[in-house]
Amino acid sequence: MDRLEAYAKANNIPIMQKDGILFLQDYIKKHHVTKILEIGSAIGYSAIQMALVNEKINIVTIERDQNRYHEALKNIKEFNVQKQIKIILNDALDVRVEGEFDLIFIDAAKAQYIKFFEKFKHNLKPNGVIITDNLSFHGLTEKIDDIKSKNLRALVRKINNYKEFLINNQEFTTEFLKIGDGIAVSQKKL
Ligand code: SAH
Ligand code: MG
Repeated sequence: MDRLEAYAKANNIPIMQKDGILFLQDYIKKHHVTKILEIGSAIGYSAIQMALVNEKINIVTIERDQNRYHEALKNIKEFNVQKQIKIILNDALDVRVEGEFDLIFIDAAKAQYIKFFEKFKHNLKPNGVIITDNLSFHGLTEKIDDIKSKNLRALVRKINNYKEFLINNQEFTTEFLKIGDGIAVSQKKL
């Protein structure tokens, strides 16, 4: 795992922070999660960490970048979790995923978060949960006016729009946690 963390750092790949991983693993154990859908595999780090919780866990994960996809495949084999993780090389917005999941983890392009949420909520079990990462975006979401770059400001605005979308959502109740880079846990209202 140290090697994956070092690789991610050297290649600027935004893998989940340690406390975020611990939160996910803990959530999986506590809620007996077995079926997981992940949007944004990168090099497979978070998927492997989740698969290692126990052998009953099955993960479908989607990655659109070729190089990262190949790196992920290699890593999944290295950790011997290839039976548990199915990785799809494609844009998540172009993939039709079959089946229902206990946990959907959204960790891909921040500007598309509302689209991912709206698309994949149909793959959620009635008492399932959608967890989204990077809602603090390195603390930038709280000080948007200080951001000099126009593009970055636009992206941060999109993340804030997503937060508003979650807060005002009639179907889901969301809890915002200050873990890692900011996590949202959204549960379908019963
Ligand atoms: N979950 C990983 C980190 C993911 S980084 C971990 O913690 O280990 C985000 C990844 O999402 C990037 O590799 C990026 O290529 C991918 N991505 C972004 N938008 C995407 C999309 N629309 N469909 C599929 N993958 C996407
Ligand atoms: Mg992330």
